[in-house]
Amino acid sequence: MDAVGRADQADRAAALRKPLHPAPPTWQPDAGERGHAPGAEALGALAPHTLPPDSAVCYTSSMEWFDTHAHLDQAEFEADLPEVLARARAAGVRHVVAIGTTAASSAACVALAAAHQGVYCAVGIQPNYCAQAGAGDWEQVVALADRRGVVALGETGLDRYWDYTPFAQQQEYFERHLQLAQERDLPVVIHTRDSEADVLAMLRAARRRGPLRGVMHSFTGSAATAEECVALGLYISFAGMITYKKSAELRAVAAQVPTDRLLLETDSPYLAPQPVRGQRNEPAHLVHTAEVVAEVRGMPLAELAECTTANACRLFGLPGDSGPSP
Ligand SMILES: [Zn+2]
Repeated sequence: MDAVGRADQADRAAALRKPLHPAPPTWQPDAGERGHAPGAEALGALAPHTLPPDSAVCYTSSMEWFDTHAHLDQAEFEADLPEVLARARAAGVRHVVAIGTTAASSAACVALAAAHQGVYCAVGIQPNYCAQAGAGDWEQVVALADRRGVVALGETGLDRYWDYTPFAQQQEYFERHLQLAQERDLPVVIHTRDSEADVLAMLRAARRRGPLRGVMHSFTGSAATAEECVALGLYISFAGMITYKKSAELRAVAAQVPTDRLLLETDSPYLAPQPVRGQRNEPAHLVHTAEVVAEVRGMPLAELAECTTANACRLFGLPGDSGPSP
């Protein structure tokens, strides 16, 4: 098997671990990387031109990025989240939405948003976890939706690839999230795996009831699906998979999404982009995905930073500047 084949297999293995408590990651802390990026405080104290010319910090420090999807509450970040967030800020990733997958995970994400500047959160029950939701879990999500720092509901959606939750139950929970989102005027964060037609059918039905706001997270669908989602009022978010050699079709889709509906995410700690593929993913790695999206759109990186950050601020109801978090 060649190197690409092995990398594909590693991605597949990583994807297979994704929905339920993934196995411990195989990445190793990289002393060079840790030593390279100063914390945000150190960065603020330096004029940009004093940074070394080869520094990733220098490269991106004038740009402001928004990671719209990261599982910051997961065990992979337990040991070093402050360092992870400092590296994100140093790379220009000034805003991160921590995404809940269960009631407990959603509560943890609310706590993270309260504790860290620039971190917001989404609360919900991910489709693969619906079957294990206990009595009162949904009510807890509904109560959490009122908490400070909550900017969206989810992640929710449908998944036919895995069989952890009967499909009818996934649909029932997706519908609950959609109805609550419309009642509260909150955006929904939508997961779609092997179920595009089913997701679209439910989104169309929701849109017939009233306005719909949200994001198709880690989008891997067709151009036609992206177009319909935009028409329904949704944003399209691209993650690290778009950087993989095999993702030519996805790059073509990313080239066509309207500029005012485009978002970026890492889906950390999963699916790290090239050239950090195979490592634990983290928000600072957003820039690698951004570079590919900018290239396929023929758009300067700074312009992509500006429009994707403004789009995320608009969707999540945040001030569009880089001031203190609300
Ligand atoms: Zn996710």
